[in-house]
Amino acid sequence: MEKILVSACLLGLRCRYDGKILGIDISEQYPGCCLIPVCPEQLGGLPTPREPSEIAGGDGGDVLQDRASVMGKETGTDYAENFIRGAYETLKAGGISGCRKAVLKADSPSCGYKRIYCKGKLIEGSGVTAALLAQNGFEIITI
Ligand code: SF4
Repeated sequence: MEKILVSACLLGLRCRYDGKILGIDISEQYPGCCLIPVCPEQLGGLPTPREPSEIAGGDGGDVLQDRASVMGKETGTDYAENFIRGAYETLKAGGISGCRKAVLKADSPSCGYKRIYCKGKLIEGSGVTAALLAQNGFEIITI
């Protein structure tokens, strides 16, 4: 049975920054697969609900290299440490469970793949977790 990491908010779990349920459940699109829900921001120690944030000064790869920050949109708090920790915990979960594929929520500063928000606009670049998974050879599908 194929095992796939999935952004937990795509499976109907209440883990989004605003505490709301996304209102979709993609599990029916993957019959016969073992879907492993992960929320990197929660795994990085952040609560739900939490302050919305954006990557500032680069993308997720830059955050991993300590060249960019993850800025809270209300207080300006730098959450980079939480985002990096959550990315590595997600990578660990993928490794423990034998996943080589991840289905990730689009546009998020953690899960977004090849497209994220910066100052309210979509720019090219991945979120912190998507960048780390891609660096480690994961196939990434974005929804
Ligand atoms: S997009 Fe990723 S970090 Fe954000 S709520 Fe969904 S699973 Fe968690």
